[in-house]
Amino acid sequence: MIYLDYAADTPVDAQVLDLFCRISQDAFGNANGAHLLGKNGKQLIEKATINIKNQLNCLNMEIIYTSGATEANNLAIKGVARNYRENGRHLISTCLEHASVSGCLKQLQSIGYEIDLVAIKKDGTVDLDHLKELIRVDTILVSINYVDSELGGCQPIESISAIVAAYPNCFFHVDATQAVGKIPVHLDQIDLVTFSPHKFFGLNGMGVLLKSDSLILEPQIHGGTSTSYYRSGTPFTAGAGATALALELCMAELEERLAQVALKSAWLKKQLSAYPLVSFNSTEHSIPHILNLSVKGVKAQAFQAALSDQEVCVSTKSACSTDNTPSRSVLAVTGSRDLARTSWRISLCHLTTDSELQEFMEIFDFCYKSLTKK
Ligand code: PMP
Repeated sequence: MIYLDYAADTPVDAQVLDLFCRISQDAFGNANGAHLLGKNGKQLIEKATINIKNQLNCLNMEIIYTSGATEANNLAIKGVARNYRENGRHLISTCLEHASVSGCLKQLQSIGYEIDLVAIKKDGTVDLDHLKELIRVDTILVSINYVDSELGGCQPIESISAIVAAYPNCFFHVDATQAVGKIPVHLDQIDLVTFSPHKFFGLNGMGVLLKSDSLILEPQIHGGTSTSYYRSGTPFTAGAGATALALELCMAELEERLAQVALKSAWLKKQLSAYPLVSFNSTEHSIPHILNLSVKGVKAQAFQAALSDQEVCVSTKSACSTDNTPSRSVLAVTGSRDLARTSWRISLCHLTTDSELQEFMEIFDFCYKSLTKK
């Protein structure tokens, strides 16, 4: 098998899994318990929390652990919308967002909130002039991802936050799920940041919401405040510890891994460029981990299925949008329905080997020839 779908999920690092098992067995008591194991668990969570904040350089933010970035996005967006509805009911986002963001916005729209989407330029970045036109005194939230999951496009986060900062009633939420652990992130001017460790060799079923201290959210899960005021349930001590370690391991090698992935990605792009029907939907702003391409005339699902028959794993759209509709993100960036229908994603990481990529190219060549012959 050749796995080239690391933007969807990554294997858990052995050290992370080991720590997870150790905490689960040795420090299993409810971390809110007033007994020895409880106090020990609380200390482990506090240690993990400080470690995560240090790694991401955001000591002034509060951490809320959730079941994934999906839940973290729901809490961030609905939590702001409901708590600050007296200030306004206008939210701004983009068509490049993950389903857990666009789904929240759709739900809010159905109950009377007004949603505007900022235009995306041909280079995959948000049109800052359009954002300036859209934002107003009753805008309560701008929600834009750091890196989008389909094209891997990196957004000008600092320029966006400078625009939002001029509106005191407006908060800035960034879904950083495809950025954290892969590229350096600058979170200082952001009010709400979400991500999940299964994208960087941590656990599935775990997510993080970073929230600036001054911001108040309406909780989305009720029934106790044992994990945090914002998230009831027994604290997931081993999950917090495992997340902190996964992040620490990635951050320690961030630059080397990024450089390795960039080399592999450039090699792959060069090989694929030799095929006349191939075009790239990722842009110069895309992170090297994600390469989105189209093979003219071949539906994305057909190419993916042909590769899958040869035991190669790639994605069409993001794995969280499993319907077969054309990609909204590719349509927005390229303006072409044909490219949106034929686009699929290869995603790499530092574990991807040169021989895997060589073998992938042989299989790609076989699939390309069989699917494009008249
Ligand atoms: N946001 C983005 C950008 C993602 O890529 C994903 C996962 N595909 C999510 C949110 C949801 O993450 P989780 O699976 O942890 O709920």
